[in-house]
Amino acid sequence: MVFEMMNSNLTNEPISKPKTGLLGPYRLDVDGIGSAVRRRGPGTYVLGYQDFHSTFFVNYVGRSDRDLAADLKSRIGSDILFKYVLYSTPLEAFVKQCELFHSFHPRANVLHPTRLDGTNWRCPSCGSK
Ligand SMILES: [Zn+2]
Repeated sequence: MVFEMMNSNLTNEPISKPKTGLLGPYRLDVDGIGSAVRRRGPGTYVLGYQDFHSTFFVNYVGRSDRDLAADLKSRIGSDILFKYVLYSTPLEAFVKQCELFHSFHPRANVLHPTRLDGTNWRCPSCGSK
Protein backbone atom coordinates (compact mmCIF):
# COMPACT_ATOMS: atom_id res chain seq x y z
CA MET A 1 0.00 0.00 0.00
CA VAL A 2 1.03 3.58 -0.61
CA PHE A 3 0.63 4.63 3.01
CA GLU A 4 3.41 2.47 4.43
CA MET A 5 5.82 3.82 1.85
CA MET A 6 5.45 7.45 2.85
CA ASN A 7 7.81 9.12 5.32
CA SER A 8 6.33 9.97 8.68
CA ASN A 9 5.21 13.55 9.18
CA LEU A 10 5.04 15.83 12.20
CA THR A 11 1.29 15.91 12.67
CA ASN A 12 -0.49 13.80 15.24
CA GLU A 13 -2.09 11.58 12.62
CA PRO A 14 -2.40 8.02 13.92
CA ILE A 15 -0.73 6.65 10.83
CA SER A 16 1.37 8.34 8.21
CA LYS A 17 -0.42 8.92 4.94
CA PRO A 18 -0.49 11.43 2.12
CA LYS A 19 -3.14 14.15 2.43
CA THR A 20 -5.38 15.11 -0.44
CA GLY A 21 -5.79 18.75 0.66
CA LEU A 22 -9.39 18.60 -0.57
CA LEU A 23 -12.75 19.44 1.04
CA GLY A 24 -14.89 16.61 2.28
CA PRO A 25 -15.66 13.80 2.22
CA TYR A 26 -19.25 14.09 1.03
CA ARG A 27 -21.66 11.44 -0.22
CA LEU A 28 -21.51 10.87 -3.96
CA ASP A 29 -25.21 11.43 -4.61
CA VAL A 30 -27.36 14.29 -5.89
CA ASP A 31 -27.94 15.78 -2.41
CA GLY A 32 -24.30 15.42 -1.36
CA ILE A 33 -23.02 17.09 -4.50
CA GLY A 34 -25.70 19.79 -4.47
CA SER A 35 -25.06 20.84 -0.89
CA ALA A 36 -21.25 20.69 -1.11
CA VAL A 37 -20.49 22.24 -4.49
CA ARG A 38 -22.23 25.61 -4.64
CA ARG A 39 -20.36 27.25 -7.49
CA ARG A 40 -19.92 26.24 -11.13
CA GLY A 41 -16.33 26.03 -12.25
CA PRO A 42 -13.24 23.91 -12.84
CA GLY A 43 -12.09 21.61 -10.09
CA THR A 44 -10.36 18.46 -8.98
CA TYR A 45 -11.94 15.59 -7.09
CA VAL A 46 -11.27 12.16 -5.70
CA LEU A 47 -13.72 9.28 -5.28
CA GLY A 48 -13.33 6.70 -2.56
CA TYR A 49 -14.47 5.42 0.81
CA GLN A 50 -13.67 5.80 4.49
CA ASP A 51 -12.85 3.08 7.01
CA PHE A 52 -13.84 3.02 10.69
CA HIS A 53 -10.82 5.12 11.61
CA SER A 54 -11.97 7.85 9.19
CA THR A 55 -9.07 7.11 6.90
CA PHE A 56 -10.06 8.04 3.38
CA PHE A 57 -9.03 5.67 0.59
CA VAL A 58 -8.70 7.17 -2.88
CA ASN A 59 -9.99 4.98 -5.69
CA TYR A 60 -10.05 7.56 -8.45
CA VAL A 61 -8.88 11.10 -9.12
CA GLY A 62 -10.65 13.25 -11.71
CA ARG A 63 -11.00 16.81 -12.87
CA SER A 64 -13.56 18.99 -14.54
CA ASP A 65 -12.48 21.82 -16.83
CA ARG A 66 -15.80 23.69 -16.64
CA ASP A 67 -18.37 22.32 -14.20
CA LEU A 68 -17.19 20.16 -11.32
CA ALA A 69 -20.68 19.39 -9.99
CA ALA A 70 -21.87 18.15 -13.40
CA ASP A 71 -18.85 15.88 -13.69
CA LEU A 72 -19.43 14.47 -10.20
CA LYS A 73 -23.09 13.80 -11.00
CA SER A 74 -22.01 11.72 -13.99
CA ARG A 75 -19.99 9.56 -11.54
CA ILE A 76 -22.86 8.79 -9.15
CA GLY A 77 -22.99 5.04 -8.55
CA SER A 78 -19.31 4.48 -9.24
CA ASP A 79 -18.22 5.07 -5.62
CA ILE A 80 -19.45 6.10 -2.15
CA LEU A 81 -17.78 9.38 -1.21
CA PHE A 82 -16.00 12.28 -2.86
CA LYS A 83 -13.68 15.13 -1.91
CA TYR A 84 -13.10 18.16 -4.08
CA VAL A 85 -11.59 21.59 -4.59
CA LEU A 86 -12.73 24.32 -6.99
CA TYR A 87 -10.28 26.47 -8.95
CA SER A 88 -10.54 29.51 -11.17
CA THR A 89 -8.71 27.88 -14.09
CA PRO A 90 -8.62 24.36 -15.59
CA LEU A 91 -4.81 24.44 -15.48
CA GLU A 92 -4.84 24.63 -11.67
CA ALA A 93 -7.25 21.68 -11.63
CA PHE A 94 -4.92 19.71 -13.93
CA VAL A 95 -1.87 20.40 -11.73
CA LYS A 96 -3.75 19.22 -8.64
CA GLN A 97 -5.05 16.15 -10.47
CA CYS A 98 -1.47 15.21 -11.46
CA GLU A 99 -0.24 15.72 -7.89
CA LEU A 100 -2.95 13.43 -6.52
CA PHE A 101 -2.42 10.87 -9.28
CA HIS A 102 1.27 10.54 -8.41
CA SER A 103 0.70 10.61 -4.63
CA PHE A 104 -2.07 8.02 -4.44
CA HIS A 105 -1.79 5.85 -7.58
CA PRO A 106 -5.59 5.38 -7.55
CA ARG A 107 -6.48 1.92 -8.76
CA ALA A 108 -9.27 3.18 -11.05
CA ASN A 109 -6.94 5.54 -12.92
CA VAL A 110 -5.45 3.37 -15.63
CA LEU A 111 -3.93 6.26 -17.57
CA HIS A 112 -2.08 9.43 -16.58
CA PRO A 113 -4.33 12.54 -16.46
CA THR A 114 -4.65 14.16 -19.87
CA ARG A 115 -4.29 17.85 -20.58
CA LEU A 116 -7.11 19.92 -22.02
CA ASP A 117 -7.20 19.81 -25.83
CA GLY A 118 -5.47 22.80 -27.40
CA THR A 119 -3.10 23.42 -24.48
CA ASN A 120 0.57 22.55 -23.99
CA TRP A 121 0.31 21.68 -20.29
CA ARG A 122 2.80 19.25 -18.83
CA CYS A 123 2.58 17.29 -15.62
CA PRO A 124 4.73 19.08 -13.00
CA SER A 125 5.68 15.72 -11.46
CA CYS A 126 6.75 13.63 -14.44
CA GLY A 127 6.66 15.97 -17.46
CA SER A 128 3.98 13.89 -19.18
CA LYS A 129 1.73 15.83 -21.57
ZN1 LIG B 1 2.77 12.93 -14.23
